[in-house]
Formats: sequence, C-alpha cells, structure tokens
Amino acid sequence: MLLLTHDNYHSLEANLDYMSRSQYTGFVYECEAKEMAKLSDVWVEVLTTAQEVGQYVHSWSAGTPEAFMMNHRTMFTKASTLRAEYLVANTMINCLQEDLFVMSHLEGVKEKIMTADMFGVTWKVMANVQSTERRQIIDLATTRSITKKVWDEGTRLHVSFLELYKSPLKAAIYTEVERIALGRADGDWSEFLLVAVSKEKYPDKAVITMTDPNRSAAELAKVELNMPRIIALKSGLEAPIRCEGCDYCRATKVLSAAINYLEL
Ligand SMILES: [Zn+2]
Repeated sequence: MLLLTHDNYHSLEANLDYMSRSQYTGFVYECEAKEMAKLSDVWVEVLTTAQEVGQYVHSWSAGTPEAFMMNHRTMFTKASTLRAEYLVANTMINCLQEDLFVMSHLEGVKEKIMTADMFGVTWKVMANVQSTERRQIIDLATTRSITKKVWDEGTRLHVSFLELYKSPLKAAIYTEVERIALGRADGDWSEFLLVAVSKEKYPDKAVITMTDPNRSAAELAKVELNMPRIIALKSGLEAPIRCEGCDYCRATKVLSAAINYLEL
C-alpha cells in the first residue's frame, strides 16, 4: 500500500489504495460511473473559478502559497499577482487574517495526513489543521454565503451551506479516522470546527462547531451501510450505475431511442 505524502496524497494511486471522504460522497451522492471513470483515469474534473479561489485560500492557511502559484500559473499575471477573477481570494484571506479568534483556531499542525482501517477499507484524511493539545480538527471552508440557505436537489430542501457541503459527514469521518489512528476509545472524538469565510465582496466569517455525537454516529452508520457496494465497485465486482445527469454522463452519452416530451 502506498505510503502517503503531501505530494502523492491526491494521486490516482493513493485514491485506488485508500478510501476518502470525497470519493465516498462522489460514489453515494454524485455518480458511481463518474467516480469509477476518475479512478480509471479516463475522467478529470475541471475546477470552477470558485473552487480555484477556495484552493488558493487553503494554500494560504497551509503556508504553501508559493508552491500553489507554481502549480496554478494560469491564475496569476506575469507579475505574479492574482488575475482579476481570483482577487476576491486576497480579500477573504485578509478577512481571516485580521481576526484573532479565527487565527487562534488556525494554529496547529497544518494539512495533517491520517489513515485508519474503517468498515473494511483503509481511509485517508488530510485535516487542514489538527491540534492534539486543544483536541480539535479545523476545516477551512469557503462558500458563497455563510448565512443564506441554498437549494439541495438531493433532499429537495433549502439548507445551510454546511448541509449542502455534507460537513456533518466530513466531521464524522475525520474525527473517527483520527480517533482510530490515535487509539482512542469508541466515541472519544475530537471537536470538529469549521473556519468559514464567504466569497462576498465584503466577506463574512464564522467559527462553527460541528461537534454533535448523535449526528456523527448516524453519519458513520450510513457510511458502514454503503461501503460494501463501494468496495465491490472499486474492485470491479459490480458495475457502476450512470446518473445520466452529471458532466461525465453527458460527455459520454450515446442515444439509442427517442424520449417522450412529457419526460422533460
Ligand atoms: Zn453521472
């Protein structure tokens, strides 16, 4: 099994060897066919401007903006400043940087990689900040708005950005992997906090506690139920189902019959 480093953490080999939170949400909440295409290296997702902005803010927190610039040259001008469409990232960083409460929560080990055997597979997580002294895992989140409700097609409800991003699931997986990795007793989870900053012209910010043992237990129970199917898919024993709605499914769609106008 691949020994994980910051250089290979997001590699194809690492994703084949390990299970991750993003793979899990891809399989369960997005599209099995797309997730398998990504693991077979036939589909690479293109980041949106908003996602690139988020990654740049993360590189500031991780203390690696220079490395980020080398790997994302198209986001920068010849003078090595952010291009106009990404400038909001600097405003977001300033918004966080000038807040002592936020900055105290960003202290700790940055981009901490942890692994643990859970529900029949080995999982990998990379915590934005881990503090074993404060017993906290901190996740940095960038979002359009912290307070506005957003439409979730999956549940057909207006929900907070936290529910849309499946943050309770992330909190459950990260704290459980850490608990197992550190050899703590069942249910002895660290606190999971989100440092959130919005992409608005005048960014909003919040430190949000996600600690909710009942919700975590419920999220992990769902993961346990879904894992046999995912293990079978990753090992090629079962065929992935196409959602017919995602980018990958549209790009690979082959028509064989007409549809009725009432289906639309
Ligand atoms: Zn699909």
